[in-house]
Amino acid sequence: MQIKELTIELKNLGLKNPPLLKEEEHLKYINDWRGQYSGKAAAVLKPTNTLEVSTIVKFANENGISIVPQGGNTSLCGAATPDKSGNSIIVSLEKMNNIRQFNKEAQTITVESGMILSQIHDLVEKEDLFFPLNLGAKGSCMIGGNLSTNAGGVNVLKYGNTRELCLGLEVVLPDGKIMNLLSELKKDNTGYDLKNLFIGAEGTLGIITAATLKLFRLPKSITTIFVEADKITNAVKLLNVFNSNFPDRIESFELMPRVFWEVAQNNIENIKLPFENLPEMGVLIDISSFAKSEITQNKDGILPITITIENILEECLELNLISNATICTNKAQSQSLWSIREAAAESEKKELENSNLLKCLKHDISLPVESIDNFHEEAQGMISNFLPGLKTIYFGHLGDGNLHYNVFGNGSLPDGFEGKGTDLTSELYKIVHKYNGSFSAEHGIGQLKKNNLKCHKNEAAYSLMTVIKSQLDPKGIMNPGKVLYL
Ligand SMILES: Cc1cc2nc3c(=O)[nH]c(=O)nc-3n(C[C@H](O)[C@H](O)[C@H](O)COP(=O)(O)OP(=O)(O)OC[C@H]3O[C@@H](n4cnc5c(N)ncnc54)[C@H](O)[C@@H]3O)c2cc1C
Repeated sequence: MQIKELTIELKNLGLKNPPLLKEEEHLKYINDWRGQYSGKAAAVLKPTNTLEVSTIVKFANENGISIVPQGGNTSLCGAATPDKSGNSIIVSLEKMNNIRQFNKEAQTITVESGMILSQIHDLVEKEDLFFPLNLGAKGSCMIGGNLSTNAGGVNVLKYGNTRELCLGLEVVLPDGKIMNLLSELKKDNTGYDLKNLFIGAEGTLGIITAATLKLFRLPKSITTIFVEADKITNAVKLLNVFNSNFPDRIESFELMPRVFWEVAQNNIENIKLPFENLPEMGVLIDISSFAKSEITQNKDGILPITITIENILEECLELNLISNATICTNKAQSQSLWSIREAAAESEKKELENSNLLKCLKHDISLPVESIDNFHEEAQGMISNFLPGLKTIYFGHLGDGNLHYNVFGNGSLPDGFEGKGTDLTSELYKIVHKYNGSFSAEHGIGQLKKNNLKCHKNEAAYSLMTVIKSQLDPKGIMNPGKVLYL
């Protein structure tokens, strides 16, 4: 179908919101958050309900038009950016942000997929409930995007990825059929687990239109601690100490080493550092309490939680596991540290724009926690031999073994954004593989890591993925050019 005909047809679809057809209206939708990918679209559509999504998908399928589903467009791997042909239509879910059902007793909420993550937080917290998915993009990413990328974030250690937080889904399939798997049930063994097929599929198998989410009791208080260790091994030992003292209570355990603080200091105005000097191997920890003034029992008797934490930290100081520590005494102090952590992606982006480092190879890897130190040592050896002057900016969710391991360099660093991978990235992934890790921990595949998926995924599993895709979407209309080579 020619674009002109398409334009007329789209106008006739009877959507509540007319399609955005002019190129200048598309800018927000056709460029990715990092400024690394840009494409073109024939139109941007903003359906307001599932029936409208179904009408659009059916129309696209009948006419062989490709669709790029889009939430908040915060993908870090070009997953929501159309290709450059200009033949795709973007389906933005931003107008679908209603609550379908809020069951406080069962601790579940069913929302449409365009609801912004922080809005879900605000809604449920008013009822003393808690939705634990939390990431730096929470003010703009949407739950449909979170599900489609199986997003991780800072609370995975205790609550799991988005997949673990989802009880049910409603999906519009590539032929326009509506598949309603919305359910509050904790047990439902009725054949294949289709819900999980669409979680993490990055819009290649259908459009998620609504989801039922698991909620938790809102902790009465969170104690935030920042510590400095001298090396990763000691930070990992500290994790074990906290795990044994506060089982199931560690909400987050984030690694913020010196390189992280250097970038933060360069790019965040009026930054408040936790200590006088930049921390060598900083760790930000949140511990939850479910009683108002919690007391804990240990070998010293019954004590308030802060005293217990102080005692544990003192022991860690004596054992040289850590060299410095601070316990936040108020919310402002804790928020100040968390805002620095949450601004990590933004700070890195500014660093690239403002420094003489022109290129960045992004790696979002996971490793068994106990292997991280050995991996880091070997990776640093490889990187320093690869090209002189490269700088690794790493940080991440140490508690669940997920590091953002980004290599910055000048013009001589090969470009890593076209999905081809680079020699350096391949070498790095070989080391990740050697330590039984994954090259893709939480951001997904998108365009950036298609090649890596083909190289590193088990061959039979990759082939099964292509079979599933071809069966569900034989015309290949759903988010073409992402995840798989077909
Ligand atoms: C500052 C910052 C911090 C971040 N921190 C983290 C982090 O800690 N952990 C983490 O995992 N990620 C993180 N990310 C990456 C990103 O925010 C997540 O991947 C997020 O889940 C994407 O949500 P979105 O609504 O923006 O989706 P989009 O970017 O719009 O889309 C992402 C993918 O999902 C598909 N999609 C979107 N909506 C739907 C739908 N309704 N149905 C089917 N497919 C759909 C798109 O086609 C695309 O393939 C961060 C990003 C930024 C910018």
